[in-house]
Amino acid sequence: MSTTFRDQAIVLKTVPMRDADRRYVVYGRERGKMILLAKGVRRGRSKMSPHMAWFGTVDIMVARGKILDRLAGASLARPFDGVLESLTKASLAQGFLLAVDALTRQEQPDRRIFGLIGDFLEVLDRADLIRSPDGRGPLFDAAALKLLDAVGFGPELDRCVRCRKPSGPSMAMNFMQGGLECQACRRPDSLPLLPETVERLRRFRNAPLSESAAVPPPFQATARVIETLLGNQVDDRYPAMSFLRRVAA
Ligand SMILES: [Zn+2]
Repeated sequence: MSTTFRDQAIVLKTVPMRDADRRYVVYGRERGKMILLAKGVRRGRSKMSPHMAWFGTVDIMVARGKILDRLAGASLARPFDGVLESLTKASLAQGFLLAVDALTRQEQPDRRIFGLIGDFLEVLDRADLIRSPDGRGPLFDAAALKLLDAVGFGPELDRCVRCRKPSGPSMAMNFMQGGLECQACRRPDSLPLLPETVERLRRFRNAPLSESAAVPPPFQATARVIETLLGNQVDDRYPAMSFLRRVAA
């Protein structure tokens, strides 16, 4: 007898397999990251694949398997049409979903992460993105910083990582140490940051995602910090950065 369970999930990525099968990597509200086998979904008559192809939250039914759990049913609960209809938004969404995949493990469910993915897609869906010269805006970087915080890789932004003194006007980011250094402690290869950049990063961390659009440009310096932090935590195969560079080009 097979056991089944239901969850609400967001598809992080899909991997085509032999025959007409597909593997979905999803993030579930209750179960966290799961890898699910879907049999025959690449045939035209599949009922499930249209629901899984969208950017949105999907009600899923899963049948437990010995090796891989199997997707037994899928129904799109909340589509984000605005994300799918814009190449820029779709690229940002895919970049973020791949970052979630790269930074999370199976069997470590975290409702905050599920909530963050949903928030990000929701805000992106409604966002007016054509705001900054790099075409990217603050939304992805704010969401990425919140994601890094949620998985425990967020940078120290309030104190010097070496002497623990509260941060002053002249700070630099030491990526290997994972945070800011004061003028007295800073190493030559740390990245000097303007006080405005540090303040922007703090607002990305502390303000709700929906308010990140109110953070004023420029975003080049914050983007560089976020991309380096993400790049340090994921391996070389992580493709999200190439998505983002395409967006920024
Ligand atoms: Zn110091």
